[in-house]
Amino acid sequence: MPECFCPEELGGACYFEPVTAESSDWMPTHEHFPRSKREGGHRDLDNTVLAHRLCNRIDYSISSGPPYAKDLARVKAARERAIQDNI
Ligand SMILES: [Zn+2]
Repeated sequence: MPECFCPEELGGACYFEPVTAESSDWMPTHEHFPRSKREGGHRDLDNTVLAHRLCNRIDYSISSGPPYAKDLARVKAARERAIQDNI
């Protein structure tokens, strides 16, 4: 299973923001799983999970090489905002 980076303070893997015209980090996106698109996986019912948009991007970066420090910084900032909002 792809790793979820959504902060527990925000709701973790079960938390999804609504899909709107403005894409958010925590909106649901389709992820090819268990067989990734790179490995020839298709967009079929038995190869589908929902993943956060940001988690999907980080997962791709981890396996394919693009830098993702800025994405991890977005996770950290979201965690800090969620903590701030819950105080
Ligand atoms: Zn996630």
